Amino acid sequence: MDGEGPIVVMGAGLSGLAAATLLARAGREVHVHDIRADSGARFDGDFQALENWSMDADFFDQLETWGFDSTSFKSTSFSVVDLIHPDDEVTQAKTDGVAYRIVERGTSDHTIDQAFKRMAIEAGATLHYKSRIDEKDADIVACGPKDTSALALGEIFRTSHPNHIAFQLNDKLAPGAYSYLIIIDGVGLICTCLWRKQKKSERFLNECIATYQRLYPDIDMEPIKRVGGKGDFTLNGFYTVPETGQHFVGESGGLQDFMWGFGMRMAVWSGVLAAQEMLGGPSYDKEVRRQLLPYVQTSVANRWLMNRVGDRMFKRMCVRWMKDQDRSGDGLRWIGRLFRPSLLKRLVYATTSPFMLERGSGPTKPKRLPFRAAKPRDAWEQSEAALAVKARWEAARRSGGHTSFESRDGEAHETEATLA
Ligand SMILES: Cc1cc2nc3c(=O)[nH]c(=O)nc-3n(C[C@H](O)[C@H](O)[C@H](O)COP(=O)(O)OP(=O)(O)OC[C@H]3O[C@@H](n4cnc5c(N)ncnc54)[C@H](O)[C@@H]3O)c2cc1C
Repeated sequence: MDGEGPIVVMGAGLSGLAAATLLARAGREVHVHDIRADSGARFDGDFQALENWSMDADFFDQLETWGFDSTSFKSTSFSVVDLIHPDDEVTQAKTDGVAYRIVERGTSDHTIDQAFKRMAIEAGATLHYKSRIDEKDADIVACGPKDTSALALGEIFRTSHPNHIAFQLNDKLAPGAYSYLIIIDGVGLICTCLWRKQKKSERFLNECIATYQRLYPDIDMEPIKRVGGKGDFTLNGFYTVPETGQHFVGESGGLQDFMWGFGMRMAVWSGVLAAQEMLGGPSYDKEVRRQLLPYVQTSVANRWLMNRVGDRMFKRMCVRWMKDQDRSGDGLRWIGRLFRPSLLKRLVYATTSPFMLERGSGPTKPKRLPFRAAKPRDAWEQSEAALAVKARWEAARRSGGHTSFESRDGEAHETEATLA
């Protein structure tokens, strides 16, 4: 960190590659080390959403301003999203602009991960895969989750159904969280997120798929693989470690949305801020606190509220969302307000975060969102339809479908398959 020597980045994901690209373009020697075999290997081809409601600026405009080519990866925009209420009523949130952009994560050429990898290489950064370094030797720590606060499990399938996207609030199928359906160009993903730790986690995915099949009988599904991963939600005492000057970016820096797990935007953004400081710009720590932390704190307040509600409140949220759309003509206004900082959210954050977060260890002095215990209502047996989904997946697995998580001791984990 002497201002001229080589810069070491730990993690070749979105945050690390964003920082590496800007630093290398400015003429610095940059080495990025990743324990996996490639960028994006953590995700194995799943779709992720870039929401476009939480901030005034459009993320793709930001990317261009920072010097990243937003056309160098495939993205599919949606202005209409099906909103599935907990009682299975389906309504639609609509906007004139872009509500969501869907990108693919993984190692295929058109993924956002590979686009950022290409930009880093073109800028002159050197990438070292399957390379393990000591965290203490990194100038920028960008290695994603350490611990588990929540889990997402999904099935990817082939379908002839046109592009579609649906978002479901249902505390039985996605405890404390949400599930979603995304179909892009003949490939679909149904995913459920678990914000409470469960036994036999895959039953949530089976039941979820069965529910989508019931709600959308015209969607044909031929399973390809099952994917998943963990999310780590921390609020850090430091974004730059005072003793070493190391910058923690992206998920390693706790920079993602505690309520629903959106993290890609803050990953890139924080990588940019870290690079800017290293090129003589303003303090990374200060800029994170000014530009990103208010949103993270708002999301902590939202997570506290989410932890306290169930389907009755989810239904009320859906109804309010739709009423606001009827009044304002814009399906993004209500949800946008939920994500934006406000005095009320600041108060909720200040009073609840000391009780909700646990002290963790590490140089950034993190406070971690624990993976909450299951509730009695999370114990249920799968329906016949869910068992049929399970049987269909098992047949697909026997004929070559792989899974990037597996159940061990009744608990889902990432496996070496994602590392391959
Ligand atoms: C299943 C799932 C679905 C998600 N869906 C969404 C979504 O729809 N929208 C959204 O915005 N966000 C979503 N997120 C969150 C988003 O993926 C993360 O916030 C974002 O990828 C974080 O970027 P990052 O650069 O911090 O980490 P990553 O992009 O994950 O990169 C971290 C890199 O560090 C490497 N690494 C790990 N350990 C080490 C080590 N010891 N040494 C060196 N390298 C290491 C990893 O191999 C990886 O390449 C989702 C997360 C999960 C798990």
